[in-house]
Amino acid sequence: MSDQTNKRLELPAMITVRELAQKLNVSAINIIRKLMENGMMVTINQSIDFDTAAIVASEMGYEAIPEKVAEEEEKETGELPLWRKLIAQEDPNSLIPRPPVVTILGHVDHGKTTLLDAIRNTNVAAGEVGGITQHIGAYQVELKGRQITFLDTPGHAAFTAMRARGAQGADIVVLVVAADDGVMPQTKEAIAHARAARVPIIVALNKIDKPNANPDRVKQQLSENGLVPDEWGGNTFIVPVSAKQRQGIEDLLETILLVADNSEIRANPKGKVIGTVIEAELDKSKGPVATLLVQNGTLKVGDVVVAGLAYGRLRAMFDFRGRPVQKAGPSVPVSVMGLNDLPRAGDIFQVLASEKEARQVVLERQEAAKQQAVAQKKMTLEELFSRFKAGETKELNLILKVDVQGSLEPILNEINRIPTGEIKINVLYAETGNVSENDVMLASASRAIIVGFNVQADATARRLAETEGVSIRLYEIIYRLTEDLEKALKGMLEPEQVEKIIGRANVLAVFNISKGGKVAGCRVVQGEVRRNAKARLLRNGEVVYEGDIASLKHEKEDVREMREGFECGIGLRNFNDIQVGDVIECYLLEKMTKD
Ligand code: GDP
Repeated sequence: MSDQTNKRLELPAMITVRELAQKLNVSAINIIRKLMENGMMVTINQSIDFDTAAIVASEMGYEAIPEKVAEEEEKETGELPLWRKLIAQEDPNSLIPRPPVVTILGHVDHGKTTLLDAIRNTNVAAGEVGGITQHIGAYQVELKGRQITFLDTPGHAAFTAMRARGAQGADIVVLVVAADDGVMPQTKEAIAHARAARVPIIVALNKIDKPNANPDRVKQQLSENGLVPDEWGGNTFIVPVSAKQRQGIEDLLETILLVADNSEIRANPKGKVIGTVIEAELDKSKGPVATLLVQNGTLKVGDVVVAGLAYGRLRAMFDFRGRPVQKAGPSVPVSVMGLNDLPRAGDIFQVLASEKEARQVVLERQEAAKQQAVAQKKMTLEELFSRFKAGETKELNLILKVDVQGSLEPILNEINRIPTGEIKINVLYAETGNVSENDVMLASASRAIIVGFNVQADATARRLAETEGVSIRLYEIIYRLTEDLEKALKGMLEPEQVEKIIGRANVLAVFNISKGGKVAGCRVVQGEVRRNAKARLLRNGEVVYEGDIASLKHEKEDVREMREGFECGIGLRNFNDIQVGDVIECYLLEKMTKD
């Protein structure tokens, strides 16, 4: 009995009798009986609180502990990206400092690109190869003999993609805030991203050269957003810079190293190889080319790599200067050739023992991905149908196909920025690859248009699109794409009505009809008069009446239309003040698309 009382059982704050019975591995009747003995009447589906459940559990020989504690412990490590977990498993003695990996975030136009260029140009050791630095999505700079790795896909795209897949490539976020503009929506977004990823933030207070720069105001705003400046007793370093005039760059780099020194940025260069895909694209002559950021271990030419759904033996590796390299240690970005497919930005890569093993891993992943995709698509379709049946939604449904993963987010961001007025743009799904038959079927079912960026439409897809009346639009420039979408939206706006005059008739006589009504005896002098058209009555050039034609007769016969030169009787709806000499103008309201 005594060892039984030591059995620990995690229980939540509330638990149903049934669940508790399962956990204790006894019949629910037993539990209900125990509770009854303690004066509680419960049913099998009723929930009881932790304290009550703990009493029952203890009577069954268990010591109950609150589940929350266990859960929280798990959370701490659960959110860690794979590579961090792996490093945590390394022998602490084997870990040595590695260069910090930095990503630059901030509101649009606050100077991210300019800052990245300034850092690259001032601190990449020049003249080493005399070559052009390549844009591979990351580069390294040196300050006082120490390296810093910058991810140079500005904006949140890469960072978000990485975080979404738990990769969290960066060790430090440099948040660019323009001193003349202050904290803006994307600044806040970036702060949230960095917090969620538990990555320290350094603020680059940019554009301090501008006459209207107001650093104190920005610091105030930053404090309000939880980034209290170091000089005000907080723990956020705020470094004034001018990316344009290349001022303060070295201070910024020094601050990065300072923060890095306090952030346990370590890895085992001899350990298991793992890292993150920074970007990947299909090169016409080289095939899939991916930029990999090594985070632990040392990647070598000839290694077999699995990255997301791609794998292969590395044929060649290049550093950001385009120089071939044989190996890359922790925090070093390299552009690699040899993968059989394009991995996605943010995918984790690992080195496996053989291509056979790699193929097996990828096959399993593909299977899992397929099942997930099927489940997702079914859902989407059902959703679509129900929306359409409801019929009251005004939406422009889009299917977006792009060349590489890295294009997705910028395009989606642009699309979100389109002023849509009363119409909602609904991206059904967005993925990489050519426009396929499947996309067309979905588009047809959901009355969506397919928008492609730097992709082609398969011949079968095009044929199907023609028969199904699905529009496929392919673009190579994002701006054109969004411009066209704006136009498409206008086409969908409630059409404006334009008036089209179809005929005129002169009133020659006025007849009284039954119930006090009046009919104009007319001659059609121009075009035609139609029974179901609109009409206005003009007297001396002034409009006396606007409305509908109520009746149109020719020699006592109801007619639908009367052409020029003929005589007819015209009755106007709810209007009897007709006089000889009036002119009846007959017109249609036609729908016109806004331009
Ligand atoms: P991003 O959208 O954050 O990448 O911003 P950009 O780097 O494209 O910069 C937006 C604009 O701000 C450009 O016209 C830059 O020339 C300008 N800019 C960037 N940094 C500075 C700076 O330090 N001072 C001034 N005066 N202008 C800057």
